Amino acid sequence: MDKKIILTADRPTGKLHIGHYVGSLKRRVELQNEGNYDELYIMIADTQALTDNFKDPMKVKDNVIEVALDYLSCGIDPTKSTIFIQSQIPELFELTTYFLDLVTLSRLERNPTVKTEMKTKDYDTSIPVGFLCYPVSQSADIALFDTSIVPAGEDQSPMIEQCQELVHKFNSLYGETLVSPTIMLPENNSCRRLPGIDGKAKMSKSLNNCIYLSDDETTVNKKVMSMYTDPEHLKITDKGHTENNPVFIYLDAFATDEDFKTYLPEYKNLAALKKHYEDGGLGDTTVKKFLAKVLNAKLEPIRNRRYELEKDIASVYNILDEGNKKAREHAKKTITRIRRALKIDYFSDNTFVTKQQKRFNNEHKKREEYLAYLAKTRK
Ligand code: ATP
Ligand code: MG
Repeated sequence: MDKKIILTADRPTGKLHIGHYVGSLKRRVELQNEGNYDELYIMIADTQALTDNFKDPMKVKDNVIEVALDYLSCGIDPTKSTIFIQSQIPELFELTTYFLDLVTLSRLERNPTVKTEMKTKDYDTSIPVGFLCYPVSQSADIALFDTSIVPAGEDQSPMIEQCQELVHKFNSLYGETLVSPTIMLPENNSCRRLPGIDGKAKMSKSLNNCIYLSDDETTVNKKVMSMYTDPEHLKITDKGHTENNPVFIYLDAFATDEDFKTYLPEYKNLAALKKHYEDGGLGDTTVKKFLAKVLNAKLEPIRNRRYELEKDIASVYNILDEGNKKAREHAKKTITRIRRALKIDYFSDNTFVTKQQKRFNNEHKKREEYLAYLAKTRK
């Protein structure tokens, strides 16, 4: 089991945004193209999306194809990566059930990402159990595919820790069966948790503060011009803050020295632009216009590829169907191993029935011996 297996997922709760791109998607494409892996899985987590969207299943259904289109337009190649849909792999839900025995309610309630998400959803005391348990089901997604690497954003660190704990507990109770994963965070700090255009800590489909990969040029321009910046930088002459300023965080994540040469040659690089803003004398509009150009240049080829892919939706569903079949093959192999470890492999081991018979035969023998002894002593 020393294979290098990569797995990541996205919830089909909306189209993918630039936070997904820098947090995980870009890395997946790089890993895929470097080719230094044995299997690469990309899962569309529809069952997880239902945990907080159960009232609107059509939203989840429609977004499965949107997410698949985003993958393909960013360069995910189905001949190298397996794209599949979570709900189509029943073995995932079986492993979730076994994992649920190995975790306590208080442990689930301590998960910091779930805590933050619960606040935004106003769950307070009435949390749907499925939602509270999604880190367990996510651990099953990771463990079932023998995943060693999960390229993801910072919000996923508590999920990977939960998975490591469950794998450790499973292996120590039932013998070495599952692989423990590690998270692969983006090297660039600004990419680990890209803030929303409203300045909120995280760009998130559920918070409606995103620039989507498929937004057209006008929409990107509008969204960038409306972005939250430094609230203390009111006049151009004011000294500004670049730290915790989403516009500069996005530039950290996207702008290259080449972009400065092309779109803003007055500045050599981002450090020079930041210094001018911090010293005072540089307006938000100049910075935002530059950011919009950088983003549009990055998104243009992605948008164009998406437009072409949208002309043949049947082929995209076909890719998902094929991916489901391939993923299921792996899932079946792992679940066989798991059932054996849990001693519930009744019909796959042909020596099992014989062994059980022997156990009964021994019992019978003992009983007969005892009866014979009684008959003898009564005489
Ligand atoms: P939802 O609001 O439905 O939870 P989301 O926008 O948080 O949606 P997910 O599908 O939960 O997106 O996340 C998919 C992947 O993208 C994860 O690896 C996650 O870490 C990463 N990711 C999501 N948002 C960001 C972000 N703002 N910055 C960096 N990475 C992100
Ligand atoms: Mg999320």
